[in-house]
Amino acid sequence: MDRVVFLGTAGGRASVFRFLRRAGGFLLWLSGDIVHVDPGPGAFVYLHQLGVDPRSLDLVVLSHIHLDHSSDVNAVIESATDGGKLRQVALFAPESAFEGKNRVVLPFIRERLAKEGFLREGEELRYKNISVKAVMKHTHHNTETYALLFNNRVLYVSCALYEDRMLQAYPKGIDLMIINTTLYRKTKPIDHLTVEDAEKLISHLRPKQVVLTHFGYELLTQHEPRLVAMDLSKKYGISVIPAEDFMEVKI
Ligand SMILES: [Zn+2]
Ligand SMILES: [Zn+2]
Repeated sequence: MDRVVFLGTAGGRASVFRFLRRAGGFLLWLSGDIVHVDPGPGAFVYLHQLGVDPRSLDLVVLSHIHLDHSSDVNAVIESATDGGKLRQVALFAPESAFEGKNRVVLPFIRERLAKEGFLREGEELRYKNISVKAVMKHTHHNTETYALLFNNRVLYVSCALYEDRMLQAYPKGIDLMIINTTLYRKTKPIDHLTVEDAEKLISHLRPKQVVLTHFGYELLTQHEPRLVAMDLSKKYGISVIPAEDFMEVKI
């Protein structure tokens, strides 16, 4: 059955690296394939704790190279290929993950991939039964970052500065929208989405189901994601779920 499981739900440096919650991204089961999106710190360990054999992964996707989204990419691919013995896993990521001085994918790990794909705004990549469309390039601390649409059903709104352009670039009425809602409100200039930004996306795009995740330090320590999600659910009559580590949502 199609579903998503969140390995971790922390977002931003403070909550990730002070370990308020786990990180590690999320797993998507779609059309018989398994996709690991944004394997941040601990992803390799959490996969095993969940009982997911990394060799069953078909595709790994990075929205951008920040460490909370990419730090375990090499370990996950190494274990998915059984140390290079298998060649069944693909990696889709921004070009900056593969090349240039800040690349995060090691050259010898790159050689183990069945396929690699560079995400580019407006373009769709395919592997096995999965399509990944980079529906929009986000503004996010001068780092190449994309919003990703999986099989025209699941939209991942990765880290971003809110822009009205999102309301045109993102699809309406999809099955699931995952929003990296890092901030409660904006107290300083920082390229992350707030609760208010998430509300604009939900009210305009009216997905069937929403998960809020990637919570920052202040949102976790001074507010309750549970209450924020409940408010939005009531206001718009849409299921808005606050992510918890290891939570599963059916699609
Ligand atoms: Zn992040
Ligand atoms: Zn980031």
